[in-house]
Amino acid sequence: MAKRSAGYDVVIVGGAIIGSAVAYFLTTDEGFQGRVLVIEKDPSYQYCSTTRSLASIRQQFSTPVNIHLSQFGVEFLRTAKDRLGADVEISFREAGYLLLASGQGKAILERNARVQTQEGADVCLLGPAELQARFPWLATSDLAAGCLGLSGEGWFDAHSLLYALRNTAVARGVEFLTGEVVALHIARQRLEAVQLADGRIFSCGELVNATGPAAGEIARMADIELPVESRKRCVFVFDCRQADVLQPCPLVVDVSGVYFRPEGQYFVCGVSPPADQDPPTEDFRVEYQLFDEIVWPALAHRVPLFEAIKHVSAWSGHYAYNTLDQNAIVGRHPVLKNFLFANGFSGHGVQQAPAVGRGIAELIVHGAYQTVDISPLGFERVVAGRPLRELNVI
Ligand SMILES: Cc1cc2nc3c(=O)[nH]c(=O)nc-3n(C[C@H](O)[C@H](O)[C@H](O)COP(=O)(O)OP(=O)(O)OC[C@H]3O[C@@H](n4cnc5c(N)ncnc54)[C@H](O)[C@@H]3O)c2cc1C
Repeated sequence: MAKRSAGYDVVIVGGAIIGSAVAYFLTTDEGFQGRVLVIEKDPSYQYCSTTRSLASIRQQFSTPVNIHLSQFGVEFLRTAKDRLGADVEISFREAGYLLLASGQGKAILERNARVQTQEGADVCLLGPAELQARFPWLATSDLAAGCLGLSGEGWFDAHSLLYALRNTAVARGVEFLTGEVVALHIARQRLEAVQLADGRIFSCGELVNATGPAAGEIARMADIELPVESRKRCVFVFDCRQADVLQPCPLVVDVSGVYFRPEGQYFVCGVSPPADQDPPTEDFRVEYQLFDEIVWPALAHRVPLFEAIKHVSAWSGHYAYNTLDQNAIVGRHPVLKNFLFANGFSGHGVQQAPAVGRGIAELIVHGAYQTVDISPLGFERVVAGRPLRELNVI
């Protein structure tokens, strides 16, 4: 039976890294005095994308908006202790990304590096001989170039960042509630309330959809077609006996699309599956054939030392895959104006969480973006069928 409960100025559906970042940034804005409720169906966070992410951050995008979002992401990570508390440990390792290219890929790498440098990213292009000198363990004979992030790129502990954002938001008055949103109440082109599976109803001034791979379902409750699907990505962990020879090792993205990076004493690696083997899914079965057929041969080709590696473990998680252009969809719905998207991040949502959290808070409090202009990622491009031309999708 439906039970009407308290009303909130802002209701955020989904309380992982994006929902917690929006909540946190609302509390940091002195212009905001409203009540905020975050509704999260699984506070263990064991299946959400955030927990299963590789938690890496790069400046090496091809569009200014994505570069700007990651630039604030890096600033936030570097200053996390000041912002979130001295005891917060997010273990940010600023070890860089190395994107490799062969043949015509070199021209794209060069074009992207020009954009990145113009926008203030600290990257440098390296030819095969420079790559060989800097990374003697890399097989370079078939490479045309590499682009290395000298600073502002690396990896961190996304789970710790999520909890730090959430705990700080709670300490500043945000309420987190365990529950599953199953319906939205709309009247006169305005979202009035959310309904939970247990029948409770909460009225809201604004609603933020931060439900990751489930974002399409929440949008459908408001009759909105959002091009976001749950797509599986697998991560494999391996041991390389001669790991110290590879130090320092950035996150390497090979020309094959296979990536790897160090993780403690081990390495993690993976690849996006071929397009015809990438259906929408909610299962978490690890696709071991990806490792055997694509990942390991590419690893052994690029780093001869990886011919003798030992597979240690694996996991899978879900991308909130934007089928239009694999980039985030952020901002207000053009008609149902109090419905805000923070969705479709595909493979780069944890690094964008600080900037998107701040941007959504700015929209709510000030009615417009105040810092990074995130409007190129607005829902308007979905309505127009106009994909963002981001060339560096991983
Ligand atoms: C294998 C893998 C590797 C990745 N690597 C990177 C990387 O290196 N760098 C990077 O930046 N990004 C990476 N990503 C992407 C990144 O993890 C996501 O973009 C990011 O975590 C999205 O956060 P989110 O809060 O939107 O979604 P999620 O973390 O999925 O959280 C959504 C939350 O909404 C809740 N929810 C859903 N439906 C409801 C409902 N009806 N009611 C209430 N609550 C609900 C869920 O329980 C969940 O907690 C990776 C993802 C995967 C799977």
